Amino acid sequence: ATGAGATDGGGSFDIGLPGAEEGKVVTRFPPEPSGYLHIGHAKAALLNQYFADMYKGKLLVRFDDTNPSKEKDEFVENIMKDIADLGLRYDRLTYTSDYFPQLLELGEKLIRSGVMYADDTPVEAMRDQRMKGIESACRGRTVEENLAIWEEMKAGSEVGLANAMRFKIDMKSVNGTMRDPVAFRCNLTHHWRTGTKYKVYPTYDCACPFVDAIEGVTHALRTSEYRDREEQYYWILSAYHKVWPGLPHVHIWDYSRLNFVNTVLSKRKLTWFVDTGRVDGWNDPRMPTVQGILRRGLRIEALKEFILSQGASKNITFQEWDKIWTINKKLIDPVCPRHTAVEEEGRVLLTLEDGPAEPEVVVVARHKKHPPAGKKAVTRARQLWIDQADATTLSEGEEVTLMEWGNAVVKTITRDPTTGAVTALGGVLNLSGDVKKTRLKLTWLAADPSCELVTLKLVDFDYLITKKKVEEDDNFMDLVNPTTKFEKTALGDPNMRTLQKGEVLQLERKGYYIVDEPHRGAGAPIVLFNIPDGRAKST
Ligand code: ATP
Ligand code: MG
Ligand code: MG
Repeated sequence: ATGAGATDGGGSFDIGLPGAEEGKVVTRFPPEPSGYLHIGHAKAALLNQYFADMYKGKLLVRFDDTNPSKEKDEFVENIMKDIADLGLRYDRLTYTSDYFPQLLELGEKLIRSGVMYADDTPVEAMRDQRMKGIESACRGRTVEENLAIWEEMKAGSEVGLANAMRFKIDMKSVNGTMRDPVAFRCNLTHHWRTGTKYKVYPTYDCACPFVDAIEGVTHALRTSEYRDREEQYYWILSAYHKVWPGLPHVHIWDYSRLNFVNTVLSKRKLTWFVDTGRVDGWNDPRMPTVQGILRRGLRIEALKEFILSQGASKNITFQEWDKIWTINKKLIDPVCPRHTAVEEEGRVLLTLEDGPAEPEVVVVARHKKHPPAGKKAVTRARQLWIDQADATTLSEGEEVTLMEWGNAVVKTITRDPTTGAVTALGGVLNLSGDVKKTRLKLTWLAADPSCELVTLKLVDFDYLITKKKVEEDDNFMDLVNPTTKFEKTALGDPNMRTLQKGEVLQLERKGYYIVDEPHRGAGAPIVLFNIPDGRAKST
């Protein structure tokens, strides 16, 4: 019934949480420290924040660290950074591992009450039995037998390692998640926080309802593909209520998982991109991680606006990246400074017959409609660099506008006889000409030693995945885009020397960029990443 009133893309979460009381709601965001946060996690985090705020309640952040084989300090540290960047305001930070002693106590109580049994059926066979609804021969073990094996598991002995503890629910259930799910298993790997103190760990299915309840979480938000698990969660929670007096109740509330086109959002798959070197790390601008997209130039406000515009729909849809970049562009365009670049390859010298004998410097606004962006110096000279892409469109006698200067008339065009590429241009100024009547507003840079241009590396990216909608049964490794990074060298205006890392700018007529490497001198280029602006070509 929680779905009532949900609209697709409705713009706000206009439906409330069931049984919610103002001042008493507690939500939680439970990342597993097995990767950095991605944009789907950002939705989960912001949604939990939204409901905590809506009811003047509390938000908890819990590191769900029950699997020592996947978890690392590096991930905890970076998730903390991501949480700070997302501006989450949480009441408490906890760890599932804080509750290991209680969880082990709970395990023993469950065995004593007869709802958990030890099973040493090999993994493959167990999977097969679960598929077919066949009860394990171990289901009939006595409480004493189970308790003895539990001690072996806690000790991490050979017998312990061969067994798993399972909830005794219903192997014939139509809901596969009810077919005696595993509650505890051994793992001798060093745990990032508790070291080798524990040899047996709860599964997510076992730990989550207990920790939610004991922390006083009133509403556990989960993505709707877990809907089958709702019955299981409530069964497990009620089993806990029978053995753990006073344990509070928890409501589950589903929301739709966020998916993007040409993207995988699973830590297992993202880990593969990092581990195989297909990206330069979790914060690579091609990654759908919070750090990746911020590094690519997304403003955090755009991310928040996008997520809150999703509404409370439970339909799983694929979102277009263009949508989020369009929101971003509306935020950056009105404020980011403008600079000029000319691509190095194929650049053409335009000689103005009547250009100034000595270069002249004028000071102009870095953004005409946004004075706080400051000012920049523009050098006007007799010879100018212009882009080949512009040069090839010119015709002799054409009047053009030189931006931040005035009009000029093209007199001569010299072309390479074999390639047809323009190799030189000649022209004269026509500063009284009407700038509104020209076809082309040319970007240019002074080709004069007094104007010390900087070298830029312009980097553009493409999606990591070639298929628009990755389905459940696709093997994502077959869909990997072989080429996803494109680099070009350009010359930039001297003012760009002062740009700082993370600053966003517009290169006139080229697009929006974010500074990844500022000016460092010694011939190292300034590295600029293209920021998609939401128009079709954007990748
Ligand atoms: P992943 O497959 O990326 O590892 P997960 O659910 O296993 O996701 P967790 O760290 O356990 O990773 O997730 C933390 C929270 O974020 C959970 O509440 C989870 O449901 C939620 N979450 C994960 N992916 C998405 C997504 N694509 N959209 C919305 N919420 C998500
Ligand atoms: Mg998880
Ligand atoms: Mg997962």
